[in-house]
Amino acid sequence: MDVKYFDNAATTRVKQEVLKEMIPYFEIEYGNPSAMYSIGRNSKRAIEEARKNVAELINANSNEIIFTGCGSESDNMAIKGIAMANRDKGNHIITSKIEHHAILDSCKSMEKEGFRVTYLNVDENGMIDLEELENAISSDTILISIMFANNEIGTIQPIEKIAKIAKNHNIIFHTDCVQACGNVLIDVKCMGIDSLSISGHKIYGPKGIGALYLKKGIKINKLIDGGHQEKNRRAGTENVAGIVGIGKACKIAKNNFNYHCDYLKKLKDYFINEVESKIPDVKLNGERNNRLPGNVNFSFKGVDGQTLLFKLDQIGICASAGSACNTGSQEPSHVLVAIGLEPELAYSSLRVTFGENNTMEDVDYLIENLEKIVKDLRKEA
Ligand SMILES: *Cc1c(COP(=O)(O)O)cnc(C)c1O
Repeated sequence: MDVKYFDNAATTRVKQEVLKEMIPYFEIEYGNPSAMYSIGRNSKRAIEEARKNVAELINANSNEIIFTGCGSESDNMAIKGIAMANRDKGNHIITSKIEHHAILDSCKSMEKEGFRVTYLNVDENGMIDLEELENAISSDTILISIMFANNEIGTIQPIEKIAKIAKNHNIIFHTDCVQACGNVLIDVKCMGIDSLSISGHKIYGPKGIGALYLKKGIKINKLIDGGHQEKNRRAGTENVAGIVGIGKACKIAKNNFNYHCDYLKKLKDYFINEVESKIPDVKLNGERNNRLPGNVNFSFKGVDGQTLLFKLDQIGICASAGSACNTGSQEPSHVLVAIGLEPELAYSSLRVTFGENNTMEDVDYLIENLEKIVKDLRKEA
């Protein structure tokens, strides 16, 4: 069966051009980048070229990019590494209630280490309140971490304003950009971002590779001890092919940016309009306009989200209920709870995230079937 894939926030298909650049680093240029001989030097050169490509996507300097094992590791390193290295200045961290678990659970770990963490509320669309942020700041606040865009409901935060507030109080500002990267213009210099996480597999690159941007001069502790790779900040022989892959993915994301965003937005707007006009009792979760170009999250009143997903899967449609990370758990999504959705609506939510591989015909197929399945399920209820 031909699979129709609408779960691009969970992961994306690796682009052909990306894969093609990666393959030689498994078979031919397999030298250890720390080695002196030529195949080692070639790997090293490829890593530095990739570092430049990652840096250019976000307007950072190459020496401010650290390669990690995934987006989750970048988030862990930012929270734990920055908190521990700056502990002499204070022990308070501010984040939000709708962060990815890589951030939330890292903050929980820091609470066990004696840090105090404030989890900011969000409004019914998932936006944080800048006044609440200001009020949460105290003399011992050392780190603010607010995600650029949310993975479940697509809401984009006012990152420049948050960064300004952090700067005014001399607080380090980290942002989880795993979803925003490639989908929203990011300029760490203009926006005043100190630290930022990226993941390869969310931007048509491979899984198992991430990057952390860390502004020059900011102190951070290592998570992984061992060799002196990544300027002594992350030990372990480099995932050369993965690094080449994320570098190429970033380069394409930069060159393709306008086309990519326009195309996804077109699919998204069409889908939202069609669903709202054809299916009664639906609620769009997240901001209507200020959201990721490919993200849609609907609650279908009276429909069980898991059953809906199952029915869609039976006809080859891949989508998600809330966050993929929550699949199998009985708790409603922490993001949908944070925006104040009643449990019944939270359990009836469906996330559809478009990607470059989707066509308008795919979207029509989805709408047609969604309309029918929702009608049937409501009749049964
Ligand atoms: C996917 C995701 C992550 C984790 O990235 P991995 O590379 O899968 O570890 C972190 N934050 C957000 C917002 C994500 O969507």
